[in-house]
Amino acid sequence: MLDLWYKNAVIYCLDVETFMDSNGDGVGDFQGLTDRLDHIEAMGCTAVWLLPFYPSPNRDNGYDVTDFYGIDPRVGSFGNFVAFTHAARDRGLRVIVDLVANHTSIDHPWFQEARLDEESPYRDWYVWSKEKPENIHEGTVFPGVQDTTWTYDEVAGAWYMHRFYKHQADLNIANPAVKAEIEKVMGFWLQLGVSGFRIDAVPFLIEYRGLPKDRQPKDDPHGYLTELRDFLAWRKAEAVMLAEANILMEQVEEYFGAEGDRMHLIFNFMLNQHLYLALTRGDAEPIRRVMARTPAIPPKSQWASFLRNHDELDLGRLSDEERAECFAAFGPEPHMQAYERGIRRRLAPMLGGNARRLKLAYSLMFALPGTPVFWYGEEIGMGDDLSLPERNSVRTPMQWSDETNGGFSTAPPDTLVRPVVSEGAFGYRRVNVAAQRDLPGSLMEDLQRLVRVRRACPEVGWGTCTVLPSDETSVLALRYDWEGDSLIILHNLSNRETETTLPVDDLHRLRPLFGSREDRDMRDARGPIALDGYGYQWLRARGERR
Ligand code: MG
Repeated sequence: MLDLWYKNAVIYCLDVETFMDSNGDGVGDFQGLTDRLDHIEAMGCTAVWLLPFYPSPNRDNGYDVTDFYGIDPRVGSFGNFVAFTHAARDRGLRVIVDLVANHTSIDHPWFQEARLDEESPYRDWYVWSKEKPENIHEGTVFPGVQDTTWTYDEVAGAWYMHRFYKHQADLNIANPAVKAEIEKVMGFWLQLGVSGFRIDAVPFLIEYRGLPKDRQPKDDPHGYLTELRDFLAWRKAEAVMLAEANILMEQVEEYFGAEGDRMHLIFNFMLNQHLYLALTRGDAEPIRRVMARTPAIPPKSQWASFLRNHDELDLGRLSDEERAECFAAFGPEPHMQAYERGIRRRLAPMLGGNARRLKLAYSLMFALPGTPVFWYGEEIGMGDDLSLPERNSVRTPMQWSDETNGGFSTAPPDTLVRPVVSEGAFGYRRVNVAAQRDLPGSLMEDLQRLVRVRRACPEVGWGTCTVLPSDETSVLALRYDWEGDSLIILHNLSNRETETTLPVDDLHRLRPLFGSREDRDMRDARGPIALDGYGYQWLRARGERR
């Protein structure tokens, strides 16, 4: 069997500047993160994904980079970075870093040269138009906040394209020098000890949009993903690419590659959105619907599963009616919503802090085909701060303890990089790591157990998944088969108790993997299985086929 580490990984995502501040300047840093690796290890995670930590004017949380070969001095030095990757490796944790190759900050020296001098080689690193382009209001990523995708630059005397905010100019991927530079950036961080990249905005990265027709390359831009994969494979065999690509099922093959020779992992945005619709309705049908439409992917390819991340919960792939249902259930007030498509809240407040429902949601996420990804703070049920603009609501500092600033920093509270959630049911005095550590029945303890069980079930990462027909529409019944073992995972999305009988004639006896010692006695696979409201069961038949 190939040792593909990402097939059975559990990824923990964090932003260095909001995780742990070691020097009391109010900004989280690499030293603080290194000091708190024990927590990530204790959660049972096997990889850490870092949001951008590069030099940046920070107009978009570091996604506006001014130097791809640098480290924001507020979060540390190269010495701190290498000490961190070393300490992580020591604990069996691989490190993935964010690669923002679609655009740079307009403060980046490349853009500054490009705008000043039409003859500069950097001019063609960006996408320009002398004439005002048509449809400058089309294709914005942040509707309601961002008006256009082109902005006139007085210095350059031309319009530049920007899929995102106007302070983020799109790089011109049709220029071979830009492609070579992106590979150089990847090679640089691989050399410093990282095991891969979360690639930002992949569909926008590989488009030739904005270039005049006669300057658009004739090749399929998806081919660039194969080039990147080849580059990584030669530089570092274990390195992976995890794609942010909110794509349709028809596009899956273009992004994984027919031979699995493009992206290693892709976030399953489609399943994520339908999971929320299913939670809203207490009905598993939306999940079954998407899984039925999901094409099989090559053996070395992998989905990445998640509940929430550092962005808004994007519900743009649902119908208007379905999205309205989710808004009504989880983000009814206009200030809870963002960009006409999403909800800018964390999961725990969306579910009203209901512990059983939260545990159900995480178990469900861990049971879906793919590699689970946590957003820091989810393990303790952190809340959000809707008084902060846009997506910053879900990017407040980690809540470590009930001490000042939630134990995140010793700086005066009004000087923190972002305020700690201090009021209400999700304030740091109630919700913090110290309070939940070793507390039986805490969310953190249950998620630690969930990670342990999931890691011991390689069937989910490696096996074949079948959605079993269920006599109760609220119950999602999944079956995995791999190397002679079978796993049955049941989730009851409604709050009503129910019983379900499994259509598994070839299986004999099942062993529950959760619950008390008595709960885990072997049971007949043909007998009815009871599920509490919001209950779940993971059951294994080990080499027990009839
Ligand atoms: Mg600091």
